[in-house]
Amino acid sequence: MEPAGIPPPSCAPDREAEEPPGSPALPAERPRDGEPARKAREEAAAERSSGRGPAERGGGRRGPEEREARAVRAVRAVRRPRVTVDSSKAKTSLEALKISLRQLRWREFPFGRRLPCDIYWHGVSFHDNYIFSGQVNKFPGMTEMVRKVTLSRAVRTMQDLFPVEYNFYPRSWILPEEFPLFVDEVRMMKESDPSWKPTFIVKPDGGCQGDGIYLIKDPNDVRLAGSLQSRPAVVQEYICKPLLVDKLKFDIRLYVLLKSLEPLEIYIAKDGLSRFCTEPYQEPTLKNLHQVFMHLTNYSLNIHSGNFIHSDNANTGSKRTFSSILCRLSSRGADVKKVWSDIISLVIKTIIALTPELKVYYQSDIPAGKPGPTCFQILGFDILLMKNLKPMLLEVNANPSMRIEHEQELSPGVFENVPSPVDEEVKVAVIRDTLRLVDPQKKKRKDFQSQSSEHVSETKEDLLDAGPGGGLDYDTSRNTEAGLPSLCLKQVFPKYAKQFNYLRLVDRVAALFIRFLGVKGTTKLGPTGFRTFIRNCKLSNSSFSMASVDILYIDITRRWNSVGIDHRESGMCLQAFVEAFFCLAQKKYKSLPLHEQVASLIDFCEYHLAALDEKRLLCGRGVVERRSAAVPCLTDGLEGTAALHAPLLNRTAAAGKFAGCRSHRYPGAVSPGAGRD
Ligand code: ADP
Repeated sequence: MEPAGIPPPSCAPDREAEEPPGSPALPAERPRDGEPARKAREEAAAERSSGRGPAERGGGRRGPEEREARAVRAVRAVRRPRVTVDSSKAKTSLEALKISLRQLRWREFPFGRRLPCDIYWHGVSFHDNYIFSGQVNKFPGMTEMVRKVTLSRAVRTMQDLFPVEYNFYPRSWILPEEFPLFVDEVRMMKESDPSWKPTFIVKPDGGCQGDGIYLIKDPNDVRLAGSLQSRPAVVQEYICKPLLVDKLKFDIRLYVLLKSLEPLEIYIAKDGLSRFCTEPYQEPTLKNLHQVFMHLTNYSLNIHSGNFIHSDNANTGSKRTFSSILCRLSSRGADVKKVWSDIISLVIKTIIALTPELKVYYQSDIPAGKPGPTCFQILGFDILLMKNLKPMLLEVNANPSMRIEHEQELSPGVFENVPSPVDEEVKVAVIRDTLRLVDPQKKKRKDFQSQSSEHVSETKEDLLDAGPGGGLDYDTSRNTEAGLPSLCLKQVFPKYAKQFNYLRLVDRVAALFIRFLGVKGTTKLGPTGFRTFIRNCKLSNSSFSMASVDILYIDITRRWNSVGIDHRESGMCLQAFVEAFFCLAQKKYKSLPLHEQVASLIDFCEYHLAALDEKRLLCGRGVVERRSAAVPCLTDGLEGTAALHAPLLNRTAAAGKFAGCRSHRYPGAVSPGAGRD
């Protein structure tokens, strides 16, 4: 049954007549509703004129006709203004966005609008001080979070907790601070396995399109001088045995929609792009290390190769669809379902690594209670398939290119933008379906659907059943969008939440951090907040004095701030808090694996905070009941004020208390509290 189509433009009343100059006229070429819905409307009109209700017509039976008639009534009930989209900051995604909006028959405001829009489509970042409602297609802090250094740190924290689960990210070191560690670790690994002949790839932080990337065989070949001091970099183990197609190395650009942070909702596009090198691949040797067309798959580099082939269909050329590669692998007998499920799991785990800090940025930019938009974001995941088909994460892009055309040199020096069918096929679908998923009208439609259409039960599938387009029901509102293809975005979280929730420990640590941040709008915890956290969670005792707490705070905070990118605020950043938390967990729960130590400490803290909340609640009630009684209640910020305002104490007394804490691979790499100044 086709319950409610979007009413054709002619019968959809506009919210208001404002149309800025240059706003494109909406084409009216394709009827919106499918045949059954139109038929149902006609029937409903006939019912109205005959005065008969649907139940009478169906002889009291709850048949399909009755449901359709109900749908028609609901169509009338939810006849609504078109969704409005501000595309004035869409930049290079504008063309694909325009096509998507035309397909959806939504209303575009290419020069912005005086009144608020439902959706703001930004090409680069979240920031816009004038948005107080609606939705923005960027999260605050995402660009910072997916920079090479930050991503490596976030994944490493997860690798410390769950080394096996996070082995999809190449071993990495952050330069310059971890250069000595890099040299030492490589030396030790070579000693233990003399046959190991590694290659490393050095990638400047914040770079893109292969900018500044080079390969080395020897750690001492890192170009430490000059730019590295001002621009840090990540050095990573180079994956020497990638899967080849037509003897060429390629990587996959997969589009992922982070639809919501709280609750976490992730969708993956069923198809992506494969970007090919333009020189046949050879394993790295000193002779070929510098051959970028052989080792780097970046489109922006390879387009300059004489061998670059513009693809005019999905299966050939230097940029193809990922599905065409999967088909090819499948015909060679590869288990593509397994490849796909490994990719899904890589994506979910990576986002789990990113969410704790994103939540800190979110609450800082859009604190609860302050008017602001909600956010969603399309991310570009760059993934390399190894020869054994294991997917490895290369990087995450906050602003994946959504261009659907490419430059072509018509005659020497004369360039023209020409459409790229492969890009258009994949990218327009991703943008259009993202919009369909965040459609502000959808909730109303869903409410109505739950009354008028049959319930579509949640499929409980195993991750392995999740092949590309594996027959999942992506969205129950599909039926209301007659004329549009089924969604290309597939929900993977919360769908597979049960399989991944145990990994979300740092999220819970971040929740504690945010609770004690205190003043809204900050991302760093002051010494008072840290002490309050310790005290409220009952973490100090005779063997862990408040003086030791101060030392822990100062020591870790100082080290993180010396390497941090964000120097605008002083105080303890989330990563520093996480390090302190891990340290406390190791101290309190000796001899357990790290993730169990951390989980136990989180449980302990959450238990005490819940007890405190309950006590406050009772206190509050007591106050209300006794009206004027002065009840000494505790609050996160006001308990034990004398202690709170005491200066940070002499640190030497507690020095060494944290000996044995995890300290390797953190800035400065010394044990917190080890008595450094
Ligand atoms: P950029 O943001 O500059 O594109 P990437 O991290 O995506 O940086 O790296 C650029 C290219 O280098 C990738 O597309 C890939 O082809 C190659 N590459 C990056 N890291 C590795 C690695 N660890 N092993 C093998 N190849 C890599």
